[in-house]
Amino acid sequence: MLTMKSFKTIEDWIRRRKLFAVCLDSVELDHAREDSLNKKIIDLVKEIRGELSLPDYNCTINCHVDCGVPCCFFSPLNIIEGVLIKPGKLPEIESIISESDKKLDDFVTFIEWDSLPPRQQEVVESHYNIQDYILEIDRVKNIVSTKKSDYPISQYLLRNAPKSLRGLRLWLDRAACSCSFLQSDNKCLLHGHGLTPKTCLSFVCTTGYVIYILESLNILSPSETDGLDLARLNELAKNATDILAGKLLTSEFLALEQNREKGFIKLLFDPLGDEKKILANQMYVKDLNFRHAQSKEKACQEIRETILTFL
Ligand code: SF4
Ligand code: SF4
Repeated sequence: MLTMKSFKTIEDWIRRRKLFAVCLDSVELDHAREDSLNKKIIDLVKEIRGELSLPDYNCTINCHVDCGVPCCFFSPLNIIEGVLIKPGKLPEIESIISESDKKLDDFVTFIEWDSLPPRQQEVVESHYNIQDYILEIDRVKNIVSTKKSDYPISQYLLRNAPKSLRGLRLWLDRAACSCSFLQSDNKCLLHGHGLTPKTCLSFVCTTGYVIYILESLNILSPSETDGLDLARLNELAKNATDILAGKLLTSEFLALEQNREKGFIKLLFDPLGDEKKILANQMYVKDLNFRHAQSKEKACQEIRETILTFL
């Protein structure tokens, strides 16, 4: 069963690993030094960096799951019926649209900032750095939003829409229609031209996030979830969450990982101590690294075997 508790823990785990990877990335390796100790440390850094190379976290997941994209549908009841676009991007968007027989106005709408009630302005400001989104036209401040089309959301998508990462319902209701940039193949016209609004890149739902983790850990490949409908994707994510938590967040596995990181940081930031001690620590980290890799591989294999039964 999907519990927000285990979900949050996995999220924290990914975040911690990402921080460690960033910390390692900031370490400057002394490639010019020839001595064998330096070379061994460099090799170890490379090995652990490679092992940690999860795709970008920090909310730029760029979900690619082919789920019918309920997250690209908006309701007239939403404060803004779409996502905001940076005014500086309008010329590029105009050029993309010029390939069709439509006009910019068919895709975006200009909203007078002062026409929004203060409470609504606050909500918008909590999601956007609003200064970057204001466009002055005749001294009137505007924001630019994607429009919604006349294509309504299906009952199926509405019923099965996954929850947000905070466990909240998406912004959908029966009157929701697709974003004007969503094409009939469920692909985004802007994205196809390398121009997705930041909000769209940063949004991922619980289902998309769990699938992202499974792919990051090489437990599943994107082709294995291709063609699954949204209800099955949700079910997969729901089951996978607890399996992941049960296998990867055991105290034994986490202790191994944390000891390895501590030993490794010590090795990196105290490289000029007694050579014997450094070598001993190096062996210790290498051993933990080996056991960690083995343990992770075994856990991921077991997770994969269980998850395959849900596909
Ligand atoms: S701009 Fe593209 S990704 Fe964003 S909501 Fe519209 S269709 Fe979806
Ligand atoms: S974020 Fe969720 S709803 Fe949006 S495309 Fe990914 S899986 Fe589908």
